[in-house]
Amino acid sequence: MDFFAQYDAVLTDAEKALVAKARDFCAGEFARELQRSFAEGVPFPESWFARWAELGMFGLQARPEHGGFGASYMCKIRVAQEMAQVGFAAAFCMNHHQGSATRVSKEGSERQRGELLADLLAGRTLSTIAMTEPQGGSDVAAISTTATPTRGGWLINGSKAWLTNGLMVDCLMLLARTEGGPGDGMTTYIVRFPRGDSDTVTREEILVPGARAFRIARITFRDHFVPEWAQFTAPGAALKAAMGVINAARVHVAAMCVASLHAALCEAVAYCETRVAFGKPLTAHQGLRWELAEVATRLEAANALVFKAALAIQTGGQPVTLAAQAKKFAVDTALWGLDQCVRAVGAAGASASLRLAMHQAEVRMAAYGDGTSEILLDRIGRGLAKDYPMRSEAS
Ligand SMILES: Cc1cc2nc3c(=O)[nH]c(=O)nc-3n(C[C@H](O)[C@H](O)[C@H](O)COP(=O)(O)OP(=O)(O)OC[C@H]3O[C@@H](n4cnc5c(N)ncnc54)[C@H](O)[C@@H]3O)c2cc1C
Repeated sequence: MDFFAQYDAVLTDAEKALVAKARDFCAGEFARELQRSFAEGVPFPESWFARWAELGMFGLQARPEHGGFGASYMCKIRVAQEMAQVGFAAAFCMNHHQGSATRVSKEGSERQRGELLADLLAGRTLSTIAMTEPQGGSDVAAISTTATPTRGGWLINGSKAWLTNGLMVDCLMLLARTEGGPGDGMTTYIVRFPRGDSDTVTREEILVPGARAFRIARITFRDHFVPEWAQFTAPGAALKAAMGVINAARVHVAAMCVASLHAALCEAVAYCETRVAFGKPLTAHQGLRWELAEVATRLEAANALVFKAALAIQTGGQPVTLAAQAKKFAVDTALWGLDQCVRAVGAAGASASLRLAMHQAEVRMAAYGDGTSEILLDRIGRGLAKDYPMRSEAS
């Protein structure tokens, strides 16, 4: 059975066609350029965002009446998996922007859609979610960026760090503390700004060796004005809204991890089938074959868990524990499995001749966003008594 068959089985024919389109896009020059850029230590060319937009992929989940495909969650997963097989970072980055477009389409006001959506769908404006700050990301409630009411809008002050696509975004869905605001005091604002530095906005790269494809940056605002229409969530409701989508985000990242490991295992097996040592192919040596067999076994287990969680979300659930478990296990399995693959093929695994080193460097970054391993374990741990109750004995 094809590794992705169970996901594909729940897609419509139109969604299967979108997955096929994504597969065609990712094959060939795109895949080669990702690998070449990784080897040179530079981000892949920005022009690929425009080419992805030409396929309409930033509107994957936007409403059809807004020019999107209105695709399901499972379809979004499969499209990302197609890309994660050739480059985890590229899939992560494309998806981040697509997520903003989806939110504006589904949750934005008419004014916000009018101001922004066409540019987001076309990739002319690039956006990302901005929650993390230099002093920390896990404790989102502790953010210190502020939005202060002023005539006609707000003034934003503070720094956001670890922003995906941060070197090129010109829009953020930014979480800020609204002083004196109701609820949790947090509100999400659509914050637009020029790509170059200005009086009110500066940005600097956070250099992440091996993962420059994410174009990670820190962006600082000083009295940066946002107009009234740019308030995206109700005042005091932003944190709750963010937590409402976290399960889907966790499972989505987990699904990309299993796709990257699957691609890596296939590459390692293909290499070891033809590479000869001591008169026979590497896979004919039982010790090495067992190591790859172990990767295959854990990969299938991770994929089964991810699919179970994905299906729960696709059918309208909020599987808090399952989503945390899927991300934790998929990330751990992918990092361990990629290391095994890199090692199994010998020195070639560390070189740019194979895609393995790139997968290893990029998938490593999956361990941080949408909940670190400790935060996920904490989440799972808090649900233990509810999720794993002891059966009462029959009377
Ligand atoms: C590639 C990449 C892209 C990203 N993109 C974005 C983006 O677009 N937008 C955005 O807002 N953020 C983004 N992030 C940031 C990401 O969300 C944060 O890295 C994450 O939330 C963790 O925050 P931190 O790195 O500040 O770690 P910290 O919160 O400082 O934590 C440090 C360590 O302490 C542990 N820890 C913290 N609290 C606890 C606890 N209660 N119990 C046990 N251990 C704990 C953590 O698990 C971690 O190991 C990105 C990160 C990466 C790597």
